[in-house]
Amino acid sequence: MKKIKKYKSFSLVVCFLLFNNLFFLSAQELINVRIFSSFKIVTAKLFLQDDYSLFIDETNELIKLNKNQFYQIEVVNDSLLELVSSDGKKFKSQKIMIYAPDIGQSEFSLQIPKFKNNRVFKGNLTISSENGNLKLINTLDLDDYVCGVVNAEVGKGRHPEFYKAQALLVRTYALSHLYKHLPEGFNLCDQVHCQVYYGTCISSAIADAVSATHNQVIVDSNLNLIVAAFHSNSGGQTVNSEDIWGTKKDYLRSVKDTFSVGMPSYRWTKKIALKDWMDYLKKYKYPTDDNEAIAYATQFKQYTRQVYLQYNSIKIPLKNIRDELKLMSTFFDIELNETKDTVVFHGRGFGHGVGLSQEGAMRMAKAGLSYKDIIQFYYQNVMLIDLKKLNFFREE
Ligand SMILES: [Zn+2]
Repeated sequence: MKKIKKYKSFSLVVCFLLFNNLFFLSAQELINVRIFSSFKIVTAKLFLQDDYSLFIDETNELIKLNKNQFYQIEVVNDSLLELVSSDGKKFKSQKIMIYAPDIGQSEFSLQIPKFKNNRVFKGNLTISSENGNLKLINTLDLDDYVCGVVNAEVGKGRHPEFYKAQALLVRTYALSHLYKHLPEGFNLCDQVHCQVYYGTCISSAIADAVSATHNQVIVDSNLNLIVAAFHSNSGGQTVNSEDIWGTKKDYLRSVKDTFSVGMPSYRWTKKIALKDWMDYLKKYKYPTDDNEAIAYATQFKQYTRQVYLQYNSIKIPLKNIRDELKLMSTFFDIELNETKDTVVFHGRGFGHGVGLSQEGAMRMAKAGLSYKDIIQFYYQNVMLIDLKKLNFFREE
C-alpha cells in the first residue's frame, strides 16, 4: 500500500450553484444516488468490471483494486466497515470509496443477500454505515442515471419519441430535486419517493433517446424547471395540479386527452358492499339516512372530471376516496347493482391524472408526433431548453 495523492484531488463531489431555489449541476453533471435505499443490509458482494481504485479516508491511501475479483463488504460495528478481497486482502475503514477509471464507462455490480441477481452500476461507489447497516451511494453521470430510470420506469419496446419525452421528465425531475436528500449526503434515493433506479440501462434505444436529448430540460414561462408530473393513463382528461396537491401550476392544467382513451389502463371497475360504502361516507358526516343523498352517492356521475363528491354542504374530495378505497383514479361513476346491495365503481384512467399520461404519450409517438409535441400537449406554455443556455439566461 502506498500513499498516492491527497483525497482532495480525487474528490468528485458535485458542486451546486443556487438559482431561484433551484440547484444546478456543475459542468461535470454527476449525481449521487443512494442505492438499495429501502433495504437494511449488513453485507454485500462487490464485483468490479474494471480496475477501480479504493480510497481509504482516514489514511489518504489510494489502492488499486483488480477487476475479475470479488470483494465482500461488511459492517463490523456501528461505524466500521471491512472489505475483504477474494485473494484475502483486508481493508478496514469508516468510509470506503471506490473510484472508476472512467466514470461514464466503468461498471461494478453488487449482490445483496435478498437478491439472487446482481445489479450493475456505472461510476463510483461510496460505502459507509448508518445505524449498523450499509449505506451505498452511487455517483454517476446524469445521463447514465436518466437512462437507468427510464429503463426502470417504462422498460423495453417503446417508441423512440416516447423515450425522449420520458427522458426529459426524468432529467427535469432529477435537477429540480437535487436537494431532496442533501442533508443525508446524497441527491436522490432509488425508490418511488424520488425516481425508481435499478442501475445501468441495458437498452440501446433508451440510451439513444437520452443522448438525443442531452442537457434538455422543461421550464415554465419564468424559466423555472417544471414539476414534471406524470401518470399511467388520464382516462381521457388530465387533472389540474391544485385539485390533487392544492398547489396551482400554470402548466399543469386539465386537458381533454383522447390519446389515452381505449389504451390498456383506460377502464377499471371495483365493487364495494353498499353497507361499506355508507359506512365510509358516514366518516365524512354524509347524511346516509336521507334517501335523496343515498341516491346521489349511489348514482354519482362524472361527465367531465369533478373534484368532489358533493351533496349540499358536504364535500368529499375525490382524491381522498381514491386513496382511502385504493381506487385506480378519481375519474369514476357509481351505480348500484341489480340486487341493490353493492355499489360498482366504473372508472377511467390510472394514476393521479396530473401532467403527462404515459399511455397517451405512447399513442402520440406511434401516431408520428414528436417528443416536443407530446410535452407541449400535456404541459401548457412550457419551453424545452438546454441546461447550459438556461444558466446563461439566468445570469443575464
Ligand atoms: Zn427519495
